Amino acid sequence: MFKKVLIANRGEIALRIHRACQEMGILTVAVHSTADATAMHVRLADESVCIGPAPARDSYLNMAAILSAASITGAEAIHPGYGFLSENANFAEMVEAHGLAFIGPTAEHIRIMGDKIAAKNAMRALGVPLVPGSEGALNTVEEARAVAEIVKYPVLIKAAAGGGGRGMKVAQTADELEDAWRMARTEAKAAFGDDAVYLEKYLDKPRHIELQIMADMYGNVVHFGERDCSLQRRHQKLVEEAGSPALTAADRDALGAQVTKGLAGLGYRNAGTLEFLWQDGQFAFIEMNTRLQVEHPVTEMVCGVDLVKEQLRVAAGEPLGYTQADVHLSGHAIECRITAEDPVTFTPSPGRVTQFHAPGGLGVRVDSALYAGYSVPPHYDSLVAKLIAHGTTRAEAIARMRRSLKEMVVEGIKTTLPLHIRIMDDPEFQSGDYNIHWLERFVSRA
Ligand code: ADP
Repeated sequence: MFKKVLIANRGEIALRIHRACQEMGILTVAVHSTADATAMHVRLADESVCIGPAPARDSYLNMAAILSAASITGAEAIHPGYGFLSENANFAEMVEAHGLAFIGPTAEHIRIMGDKIAAKNAMRALGVPLVPGSEGALNTVEEARAVAEIVKYPVLIKAAAGGGGRGMKVAQTADELEDAWRMARTEAKAAFGDDAVYLEKYLDKPRHIELQIMADMYGNVVHFGERDCSLQRRHQKLVEEAGSPALTAADRDALGAQVTKGLAGLGYRNAGTLEFLWQDGQFAFIEMNTRLQVEHPVTEMVCGVDLVKEQLRVAAGEPLGYTQADVHLSGHAIECRITAEDPVTFTPSPGRVTQFHAPGGLGVRVDSALYAGYSVPPHYDSLVAKLIAHGTTRAEAIARMRRSLKEMVVEGIKTTLPLHIRIMDDPEFQSGDYNIHWLERFVSRA
């Protein structure tokens, strides 16, 4: 096992990775920007290195500074967390070229799955069902129009390099296609430096269901069941559940068997998530994330497995040591993403946290880097806490989440806590009958 790991991230996920390392007897190196000098992950890590000024491009995205920090501290491996450099194939390559282990898949797999067109092609070859649409990149709006006529409107123009819901535009009718085409390309070029786009049928009432997988270096792949992440605003997840209220064990097993077999064939390693839309009893693949996801704790709560420890073990060359038959799902878990934002307008609300009290009790987990007196910097993602509740049934998990949200105190900044309480109180949410469009309408009713 590694003796020392560098955590190339910040916030709650840096802390999450630190916790797994400490329990495994691994020393940690935190890296931080000048804006994060007093951050929790920096305080708790065994060593810390300042890697640059506040803007992420000068610090958390600064590959040379991070590699230098690994070299001067003698770290043997780098965990990239999520966001930042976690899906940057060049970074993974550079880490390995420096003789360090990258805690994630190979650069080749990151590259393939990072291009959504290539990812869909790879899944098509494995026989995984896809959302109907173009077979590859589209060069002209006329090509897009021809495909849209076949799959029928509404359609979605999506960036091949897309992420975080950006570079994605809906055309409800043929009249809107040209605008959607132009806007998606412009946004993709600005956000990702790549304006390649493709087209998908825009499904009217799907659920977002994703499958968590883990693979070792010897071709063993297991899945840890699904997460339902249909509660989204602007294509960004707010609440996640494990398992999905809509899926049967038979649906899960069939998809899981197909996907794990396919990924074993590809030689995929470490953690990964395959995202699907689920409508009318059918799965359709949309993309694969080659990293740990924000919402991984709900899976951990129902499986009793520490996914970060598994990532560390397989990256160090250990075999999984168990098979699919050893994976048992128990009860139900829900995660609420609490952000430093106004709960109605969603305007960011960085600043000093004057009071912080985390809820507790059986089945409650808080993943947060907040503390009283901490100042949430304005430079980064607004996620400040993930509250996770587990119950033997979905109803118990909801009741537990509801009372935990009410116990939690964050003062000095605005947070989305009140919105989450409203969601937990809503009879439609409680019934489990919702799709990816539900939350957008719910929010606009406020
Ligand atoms: P990103 O990588 O930017 O997150 P995804 O491809 O994962 O983009 O899609 C994000 C979300 O957008 C999905 O969870 C879903 O809610 C919505 N979405 C994506 N593709 C479609 C589609 N073909 N039809 C309807 N909704 C879609």
